[in-house]
Amino acid sequence: MKIKADYANAPAWKELTVKSSLPEQLKCLDEIAHNMWWVWNYEARDLFRDLDPELYHDVKHNPVMLLERLSFARKEEILKDKALMKRIKTVYDLFRKYMDVKPDSKRPSVAYFCMEYGIHSALKIYSGGLGMLAGDYVKEASDSNVDMCAVGFLYRFGYFTQSLSMDGQQIANYETQNFGSLPIERQLDKDGNPMVVDVPYTNYQVHAYVWRVNVGRVKLYLLDTDNEMNSDFDKPITHALYGGDWENRLKQEILLGIGGMLLLKKLGIKKDIYHCNEGHAALCNLQRLCDYIEEGLTFNQALELVRASGLYTVHTPVPAGHDYFDEGLFGKYMGGYPQKLGISWDEFIGMGRTNPDDKGEKFCMSTFACNTCQEVNGVSMLHGWVSQKMFAPIWNGYYPEENHVGYVTNGVHFPTWCATEWRKVYAKYFDEKHLSDLSNEEIWHGIYDCPDEEIWATRMALKQKLFDYIKEQFRETWLKNQGDPSRVVSLLEKFNSNALVIGFCRRFATYKRAHLLFTDLDRLSKIVNDPEHPVIFLFAGKAHPADGAGQGLIKKIYEISQRPEFMGKIIFLEDYDFLLARRLVSGVDIWMNTPTRPLEASGTSGEKAEMNGVVNLSVKDGWWLEGYREGAGWALTEKRTYQNQGYQDQLDAATIYGLLENEIVPLYYNKDKKGISKGWIKVIKNSIAQIAPHYTMKRQLDDYYEKFYNKEAKRFKELSKDDNRLAKEIAQWKEAVAERWDAINVVSAEWDFPSTGAEAGQKYHLKFVVNEQGLDDAIGLEKVNICFDKEGEEKVFSVEPLKVTGREGNNFTFEATLTPTQFGQYKSAIRMYPKHKSLPHRQDFCYVKWLELPAFNG
Ligand SMILES: *Cc1c(COP(=O)(O)O)cnc(C)c1O
Repeated sequence: MKIKADYANAPAWKELTVKSSLPEQLKCLDEIAHNMWWVWNYEARDLFRDLDPELYHDVKHNPVMLLERLSFARKEEILKDKALMKRIKTVYDLFRKYMDVKPDSKRPSVAYFCMEYGIHSALKIYSGGLGMLAGDYVKEASDSNVDMCAVGFLYRFGYFTQSLSMDGQQIANYETQNFGSLPIERQLDKDGNPMVVDVPYTNYQVHAYVWRVNVGRVKLYLLDTDNEMNSDFDKPITHALYGGDWENRLKQEILLGIGGMLLLKKLGIKKDIYHCNEGHAALCNLQRLCDYIEEGLTFNQALELVRASGLYTVHTPVPAGHDYFDEGLFGKYMGGYPQKLGISWDEFIGMGRTNPDDKGEKFCMSTFACNTCQEVNGVSMLHGWVSQKMFAPIWNGYYPEENHVGYVTNGVHFPTWCATEWRKVYAKYFDEKHLSDLSNEEIWHGIYDCPDEEIWATRMALKQKLFDYIKEQFRETWLKNQGDPSRVVSLLEKFNSNALVIGFCRRFATYKRAHLLFTDLDRLSKIVNDPEHPVIFLFAGKAHPADGAGQGLIKKIYEISQRPEFMGKIIFLEDYDFLLARRLVSGVDIWMNTPTRPLEASGTSGEKAEMNGVVNLSVKDGWWLEGYREGAGWALTEKRTYQNQGYQDQLDAATIYGLLENEIVPLYYNKDKKGISKGWIKVIKNSIAQIAPHYTMKRQLDDYYEKFYNKEAKRFKELSKDDNRLAKEIAQWKEAVAERWDAINVVSAEWDFPSTGAEAGQKYHLKFVVNEQGLDDAIGLEKVNICFDKEGEEKVFSVEPLKVTGREGNNFTFEATLTPTQFGQYKSAIRMYPKHKSLPHRQDFCYVKWLELPAFNG
C-alpha cells in the first residue's frame, strides 16, 4: 500500500468558553460590565481603566474582555487595595440605584427596529450616523425610563476597520467578533437553553440565536444566524453590515422585520408602538398583519391596526438611498404571503410600489413602510420637507406640502458625548436638575456664570488629551506609512496644541465635499502656515468599500497631507470610530461640515461638538439650518448661487477661506495678557447656552412622544377597544366608499364668478350637488388654489372648504361663499375626498377625485 502524503480528517471544532472566574467580592464588576450603562457613566469607565490601565488600552476599553484577562496577581492586588474596593462599591451602588427604578408605564411603550446600533466600539454592530443615532436613542430611552425594547443584529464581522496603505489607499479589514468576550448575554428560553427563533424563508426556515445587550434599563435583542443550524447559504445573513448582494440584503430585511417580530412574540413582548428606524425593518408590519389575520381579522381590518401603531423614520434625502427589490427576487422569498394575507400577489407587491399598477416597478421597502405606517418622519426640518417631496408621488391628489410627513430633528445622548471635564464644569454652574432636564435652555444659561479662564482651561485640557491620544494611537501606523522615522518626528514636532484645530470627520461620501478645502492649495498653505497663527486640520472617516469616489477622496487628502508644506498641518487619522469620535468632538476647536445642500439629512457629529464647547462651521443644511445662532458659530448661507455644482463648490470654498482669514483665525488669536481669547469664549458660551440644549437626545425622544407616539397610541387604543370595534368600522366604511367611488357623481354645479374676472374683496357663491350613492355624508369637497413659486413649481396657496348645507335622498348639497383676496392669476379646481372623523389624516385613505369648476357666469 502506498502511504499517503497526508491523511487527516477535517477537525470538528467545538466552541468552548473558559471563564476565568472572579472572586466573590469582584463579581459585581461582571454585572456592571455586562450592562452598557458604563459607556455613559464615567465613574464606571474610570474604574475599569484603573483596574489595569495597560490592559484596558489593549482590550480597547471593553470591560468584559478586561475582566476575562485580568491576571490572578492583579486580582489579588485589587482585593487588598482598600481605596479601589471602596470605589467598586460606590460604582456598584450607583449602578443598582439606576437599575432599580421601575419603568414609567404612563408613556406609550415602543418596540424599535434598526439594522445597526452604535453603543460603543467594543460592539461592532454599526457603521456610522444611523447606528450612532439608534444607539444614542436606546440609551436615552433608558435614562428617560420609558418602556422600550430594541431589535437588531449581532454581526459576526460588523463594519470594517480602516487602515491606509502607504499611498493612501483605504484598506478594509473585517475582524471576526468573538461573541463570548462582548458585553452581551445570550438570551435563554424558559428551560434555560439558548433561545432560537425560527424564521420562514420560502419553503424552509432560518434559525437565529438571540443575544441581549443590556443598555441600562432597556433591552436590545440581537439576532444571529451564524450557527450550525443553518446552511452555508444562510449563515452569512448576519455576517456583515450592508454587505453582500441584493439577495442577502432581502434576507437580512426578512430577518430583521419578520424575524424581529417572531422574536418579540417568543419573548412575550407586546408594545404600543412599532418604530421602523429606516425602511430596512418595514417587514415587521407584514408579520404584524399576518398575526392579526390569524386572530380572525380581515386584511383591511388588520391594516387599520398595524398602521395606527406604526411609525417610519426615513434618514435619506434621495430616492436612490432606498432599497428596491425586483419582482423575481422578491417573489422567490415572499411568494407565500399573499395567501396568508388574503390578497392577490399584485395587490401585495403593489404595497411597495408608488404606482401599484405599474408592473415594471420594483418593490421599495420605504414605500411599503409609508403604506403600512400611519406616520412618517424625516430627521430635521429641512429633511422633513425634502421627504414630503420625495414621498409625494405615493399620495396622488395632494401636493407635497399637504401630506402628513413630519420631522423630528436628530439629537445626541449627552452623557455619552459630553467629556467628563465638561460634565464637571456643568455640574458646578448648572442647576442640579440638569441631568434630568437636559433640554431646558434656562439651565444651560448657567454657563455664562463660568469664568472665562475655566472655559479656556477646559478646552485646552481636552485639546491636549486629543493630541496625546493621537500621538499614542498613531505613532505606530505613521512609522509604518511614512517609512522614514525622522519624518514622523518632524510631524509630531509640528503638532502644536496651541494651534487652532479644525476637525472634519465623517463618512467619505462625495456629497459631504471633503475636497472643498483643497480648492486653492496656495491659499490653504498660507492659512495653515501662518507662523503667528497656525491652523491644523484633522480629517477622519471611512468610505464605503463599494464607493470608489469616496476612497479616491481619502487618497487625495492623504496625498496632500504628505506634501512638505502640509506635513503636520493636514492630518488624516485612520479608522474613525466611536472612541476616536469621542476624542475629536471634544478636542478640536472647530467642527467643520460642508455638505451639498440638502443632502445631509441631519448630521449629528456637530451636535456632539456642541456639548463640548466646540464651535460649528458648517453649511446651513440638516440640523445646522435650525441650530445656527448668530454669535454662536459660523454658517455658510443656505442660498444656492449657482446651478452648476462646480461653480458652487468654488464659491463655497472661497467663503470658507474668507471666513477663516478674516474672522475665525483673528478672533481665536486675539488673546489677552493671560493668553485667553475673550471673543472666542463668548462664542463658546453662546453655543453652549443657546444651541446645545436643543440637540440632546432627551429633546429628540420627547419630540417623538409629543409628535407621534402619544397620538398614535391614543388612536390605537380607540381602534382596538371592544374587540377592535372601531378598526372594523373604519375598514368597513373604507370598503363601502371604495366600492362606490367611481359612481359618485356631480348632479349639478353653479357659481357666480364672472368670466371677466373677479373683484378682490367681493363675495362669490359656489354650489355643488353630489350623489353619494348611498353613503352617509362620507364625502368632502374643497376648492384648491394653485400658484407658481419662484422656481416655477406649482404650489398650493389656499384651500377653501365647501360645507354640506342640505340633503335630499342620496344627493348632498355643498356650498361656499368665497372672497378672493389674492390678485393676479391662479388655477383652481374642486377636490373631492372621503371624510371620516376617525381618520388621522387624508393620506390615510388617499382617494381623490378632481372636479371641474362650473362654467363662468355670463
Ligand atoms: C456621530 C458619528 C457619526 C455621524 O456623524 P455625522 O455628523 O452624521 O456625519 C458617524 N460616525 C461616528 C463614529 C460618529 O460618532
